[in-house]
Amino acid sequence: MITVKNLKKSFGTLEVLRGISFEVKKGDVYAAIGPSGSGKSTMLRCLIELEKADDGDIIIEGNYLCKDGRYVEKGSKEICSKMGMVFQHFNLFPHMTVGENLKLAPRMKKMYKEKVLQDKCLEMLEKVGLRDKLNESPQKLSGGQKQRVAIARALMLAPDIMLFDEPASALDPELTQEVLTVIKTLAKENTTMIVVTHEIGFAREAANKVLFMDKGVVVESGAPSDVIDHPKNERTIAFLNKIL
Ligand code: ADP
Ligand code: MG
Repeated sequence: MITVKNLKKSFGTLEVLRGISFEVKKGDVYAAIGPSGSGKSTMLRCLIELEKADDGDIIIEGNYLCKDGRYVEKGSKEICSKMGMVFQHFNLFPHMTVGENLKLAPRMKKMYKEKVLQDKCLEMLEKVGLRDKLNESPQKLSGGQKQRVAIARALMLAPDIMLFDEPASALDPELTQEVLTVIKTLAKENTTMIVVTHEIGFAREAANKVLFMDKGVVVESGAPSDVIDHPKNERTIAFLNKIL
C-alpha cells in the first residue's frame, strides 16, 4: 500500500528526515513511536504532500507520489485522496453541526447523492459511537467525542489508508481510551493505517508493526513483540524506559 524509500527532508539546515524507509502492506497497522522532534509528523505530512520531501521515493498503491524527491506533477491529489489523516487537533467547523462537518468534503467532491450521503454519514457516526450526535454542534462535545467525529469525517472519504498523528495526545487521559478504542475497531476491520502514538499499550495491542524513529532515522522496526518487548537498539531501550 505504501512504500517509502530513503525519504529525506530538511527545514533550512535542520535535517528532520535523514533517509527513512518502510513498507506498509494491506491491512497493516503501523505504530510509529519515538521522541518528540524525531520527525514522525513530518514523515506523515510528506506522505500526503502537506510537506514536500527533498529526496527519496513515496509509492502509494503502486503509484509514485514522489520519485527522487520530485512529486508527480499530475495526479498527486488523486493519490493523496486515498489517504485520510486525523491530526492531534480535530479542526471541526464549530458553526456547523456534526453531520454538516462530515458531509462537507464528500459534497465538494460530489462523491455521493444527498440521500446516500446522509446514510454514509450515519454509518460513519455509528462506527465511532456517535450516531445520536448528528445534529449536535461540535462545541457541545467533549474532546474525545470531537476527535471521534474527526475520525468519522476522515472515513467519509472512504480512504484506503488512514494516517493518525497522535490522535489522543491533546486529550485528558480519561478521554484517550475512547479514541483509541475507535482506532482499535478500525484495526480489527483490517483498515490499513499508520498511527503516530505515545501510547505503548495501544501499539502493543493494536499494531502488527512498530516503527521506532529517533533523530530522523528509523532505528528499529518490526513486530511489537520484538520492538517493544525485546528492543535491540540502545536508543529504543532508552526511549521505552523513559515512557513506560
Ligand atoms: P515529531 O512529530 O516526531 O515530534 P516533527 O516532525 O514534528 O517531529 O518535527 C521534527 C523537527 O522538525 C522538529 O525539530 C521541528 O521543530 C521541526 N519542524 C517541523 N516542522 C517544521 C517547519 N514547518 N519548519 C521548521 N521546522 C519544522
Ligand atoms: Mg508530531
